[in-house]
Amino acid sequence: MKTRATYEELLGLWRDQALLASCSAVLGWDEQTYLPRGGAEHRGNQLAQLAGLHHEKVTSPRIADALGEIENTDLVATSDSPEAANVREIRRVVDRLSRLPRTLVEELARTTTIAQQEWSLARRENSFARLQPWLEAIFVLKRQEAACLGYVESPYDPLLDEFEPGATARGLDAVFQPLRRELTPLCDAILGSSRRPDPSILRRYYPVDRQRIFSDVVAAAMGFDFEKGRIDLTEHPFCTQLGPGDCRVATRFDARNFGDGFYSVLHEVGHALYDQGTDPAQYGTPMGETASLGIHESQSRLWENTIGRSRPFWDHWLPLARQLFPDSLRDVTTEAFHFANNLVAATLNRVEADEVTYNFHILARFDLEKALIEGDLAVADLPDAWSGAYQKYLGISPSHDAEGCLQDIHWSAGLIGYFPTYALGNLFAAQFFEAASADLPGLDASISKGDFADLLAWLRNRIHRHGQRYRASDLINRVTGSPPSHAPLLRSLRRKYGRLYLD
Ligand code: ZN
Repeated sequence: MKTRATYEELLGLWRDQALLASCSAVLGWDEQTYLPRGGAEHRGNQLAQLAGLHHEKVTSPRIADALGEIENTDLVATSDSPEAANVREIRRVVDRLSRLPRTLVEELARTTTIAQQEWSLARRENSFARLQPWLEAIFVLKRQEAACLGYVESPYDPLLDEFEPGATARGLDAVFQPLRRELTPLCDAILGSSRRPDPSILRRYYPVDRQRIFSDVVAAAMGFDFEKGRIDLTEHPFCTQLGPGDCRVATRFDARNFGDGFYSVLHEVGHALYDQGTDPAQYGTPMGETASLGIHESQSRLWENTIGRSRPFWDHWLPLARQLFPDSLRDVTTEAFHFANNLVAATLNRVEADEVTYNFHILARFDLEKALIEGDLAVADLPDAWSGAYQKYLGISPSHDAEGCLQDIHWSAGLIGYFPTYALGNLFAAQFFEAASADLPGLDASISKGDFADLLAWLRNRIHRHGQRYRASDLINRVTGSPPSHAPLLRSLRRKYGRLYLD
């Protein structure tokens, strides 16, 4: 009885910290959408203040005492009960933050806020020198963070653990090695094929206001709830949940690049559907949070690639696109449009990369950030190292830094160990979709009618509603009957791209 009361008190305290964190999320969303440059420094101070308060709340002695009183009692004896999951995950976060001094947390918040603004300018000016001192400061701070958190093998591990609980650099190598081994010959075969799509179809004129209409209609059909979310414009597409009933997607559009805007929306709305699918009654507790970034990314990839680049998808949506963009699409067949949206090419831009080469962009970043954090690579040498990594994985290198190491915001935002979750997302998405296809025999037929209700219900039931009840690998095992593996992704890529390029 007393344990139950302590547990309820703990959840109340945890909801308080979630409320405070959601205030930072609003400021972060504004920073990436509407904040004028002149407000960057003040915003950095605001976010640092909130990060400090948040740190104080999470590490309060009462939370630590309550955890101690509840752990090892009958209330949490069943390992996958909601109570056990909440206590396990609260403990994880408390232990993490307790090891970080408040001054370091505040310094990171302040530095990364300004660095993100500097990144934006550096990218526009194609000036790595502008960003370099900020990246140097961030890697120093992140190394301090790793040292405070502690590690056995690599300072990379505790940073990765923030995004993918339990994962290590060595563990990632064990998944990424076979992926690279099997993907390379498939990619080479596709790139060597004489059968090529006509990608110029997607570079015709697509007025931005009409792109916004089209992507809003598709987002609504996918199940995005516009009463509980918004889609705004930004430089670097993202999705953030500000609270129950408020999920923000932000994207960009280019009138001469249909795929950039459209697939960014599908991707971010895929994230949003996961956020909107968590249980609002559990908001502010781990049971109301998403499982891991790898699982999160599996949802975005599934909608962006598995669904959005499939033939049944365009069987339904191309007619509407033709109505909205008659001059550009009047003479385009579904076959040609579908093929154009599945162009495989060695390119320099990660966000625009196709499903097949995308993983190589991640493997390159994984190598580089690991070397940066382990001290094997100096920030000053990053542009050269970036070129080298792209040569190694894709056989090409950038002619300037804006299309090289300045293209991503992540490191400027202090996100080290985040990139690998994108590749994990690809693997998990293929594995989930295989399981969904087995459970839902009419799935392709539904997609070709623009009907995603059964698929979304399946995702909600099997994945979204469980919050953090299961760790990522347990969840995958429960949903698909197998541990995480690269094999379903390879099967799906061989089937689809074999048909388009090789058969
Ligand atoms: Zn994503």
